[in-house]
Amino acid sequence: MLELSGIRIRLRQLDGTDGCELGMLRRAVAKKLRAPARELASLERRRRSIDARKKNDIVLTFTLHVRLKGGEDAEREALARLAAAHAEKGVKLVDEAPFGFPEPVRNAPEQRVVVVGAGCGGLFCALSLARAGLAPLLVERGDDATRRGNVVAEHNATGVLDPESNIQFGVGGAGTFSDGKLQTGTKSPAHRLILQTFVDAGAQPQILWDAKPHVGSDVLPGVVTSILRRIEDAGGEVRTRCRMSDLEVAGGAVRSVTLTSRGADGAVREERVETSAVVLACGHSARDVFELLRERGVAMERKTFAMGVRIEHLQADIDRALYGPAAGSPALGAAPYKLSEHLPSGRSAFSFCMCPGGYVVSAASEPGGVVTNGMSLSDRAGANANSGLLANVFPDDLPGDDVLAGVALQRECERAAFAAGGGAYVAPAQLVGDFLRSQASSGAGGVAPTYPRGVAWGSIDGCLPPYIVETLRAAIPRMGRHLRGFDADDAVLTGVETRSSSPVRVTRGEDGQSVSTRGLWPVGEGAGYAGGIMSAATDGILAAAKLVEALG
Ligand SMILES: Cc1cc2nc3c(=O)[nH]c(=O)nc-3n(C[C@H](O)[C@H](O)[C@H](O)COP(=O)(O)OP(=O)(O)OC[C@H]3O[C@@H](n4cnc5c(N)ncnc54)[C@H](O)[C@@H]3O)c2cc1C
Repeated sequence: MLELSGIRIRLRQLDGTDGCELGMLRRAVAKKLRAPARELASLERRRRSIDARKKNDIVLTFTLHVRLKGGEDAEREALARLAAAHAEKGVKLVDEAPFGFPEPVRNAPEQRVVVVGAGCGGLFCALSLARAGLAPLLVERGDDATRRGNVVAEHNATGVLDPESNIQFGVGGAGTFSDGKLQTGTKSPAHRLILQTFVDAGAQPQILWDAKPHVGSDVLPGVVTSILRRIEDAGGEVRTRCRMSDLEVAGGAVRSVTLTSRGADGAVREERVETSAVVLACGHSARDVFELLRERGVAMERKTFAMGVRIEHLQADIDRALYGPAAGSPALGAAPYKLSEHLPSGRSAFSFCMCPGGYVVSAASEPGGVVTNGMSLSDRAGANANSGLLANVFPDDLPGDDVLAGVALQRECERAAFAAGGGAYVAPAQLVGDFLRSQASSGAGGVAPTYPRGVAWGSIDGCLPPYIVETLRAAIPRMGRHLRGFDADDAVLTGVETRSSSPVRVTRGEDGQSVSTRGLWPVGEGAGYAGGIMSAATDGILAAAKLVEALG
């Protein structure tokens, strides 16, 4: 198979349809290979990115996998022909070794592996273990995706928060009601397997080649439900509304977990499950789990995390700033941005989890605390662009020596935001212009905030530590120099965004197990080893591979 990289198609040559794009690509490939288009047996897009450096001439750049009708011999010949003409740049032969789920083990142990948490880390770990024939028990404290959708809608409408099932907790984890961005800064052969699993489960095929793939909150619940079914089909058992409420550790090793479930009749049941292997994929918001681990003497350490606010602009303004006259082209979609600023103070501010054409969400999981985050639907057609605007909290910023001091700080800020909003999960909001002038806001300008519980205009200063507030205040005008309009007076800040990453790490060794507790396998974002859907899923797959090896 031939890999062709750097194939460029001008945006103005495209009409926004897939057929047009594929037709242009076939012609470009034939030209590059100096072969008639009829010789192409297949053409697969592997990467599609947007080069908008010249706003008047935006170009789409592709990496493609191409097979010729004459098979490998013809592909070798084509490459040799190009080499003879010194035209082989960007063309090479590739042989893809597929990365798959682990092979079934021969002697599966009698005790089941318990996977705690059905976020992407737990889902992909459980799927791998099930495929390996280990029949894992996957427990999830929140609801299945459909019920969870109803519970979230109820929270948005009434302000009633279910601490067990919400934007953070439930099947699919924190990523279910998100933008479903699937890009990651890391590289792993597992990424293709994850994307393919998403597509097989109902996600859009273009996530396989878009450089910045995204799924959307309207598609994700179906996708995670389908992955759950695959775990069951492969021999796993899934229990929702089932919380790991205790972990028994003896002699430095896991002995059992206690599972607490609430049945349809409302009755609470507790069950002790003996096991020597617990995958802890509980996410960064399972504060009760962190407290339990501390009590049980499981090794944890503080880690750097980030806090700040959500910032909203009109998406049309962001599109114009990034795409110029091509803004609004269907081949481009709503424009994403990513910004970071290193300040003379030594601190940095950065955009996080930017959601083009999206909505700010109420991401609280604890009563009495306001938390923001963002999501988009698959069409990214919302009027606003939103993004986290964050600054780091370093371990040394925290008082005392409690490993959970970061959790305490998050909670303090969330409660301050709840109080500033006046209760019922209304969030405090401020216009960027007022924030920069350190004055309270009294109402919206041209950007209507999308936070579903409504906002209370005022100042967000009192909701975050001064070093975060000052870092954001210094960074916004600088960011405006890189992205026109980012510092517009009427952009909206809604707070607080405290759950972007975990403030603790459940320390694990090279073998993937907790350094203090044999048989405890910390996985994903809550364990401090992932930041986002793709990296959590990757971590789940790699942990499963190590676990299979250890049990085999
Ligand atoms: C609104 C929102 C939007 C986001 N958007 C994106 C995005 O576009 N792209 C991206 O890459 N990332 C995004 N993220 C971050 C991403 O969702 C997380 O990085 C990812 O979900 C982490 O996966 P995880 O499996 O490690 O943890 P989680 O997804 O947090 O899953 C942990 C699961 O464990 C369960 N659990 C916790 N404690 C227990 C217990 N005691 N017993 C049983 N179950 C338990 C929880 O209910 C939860 O379902 C977003 C997050 C939010 C909140």
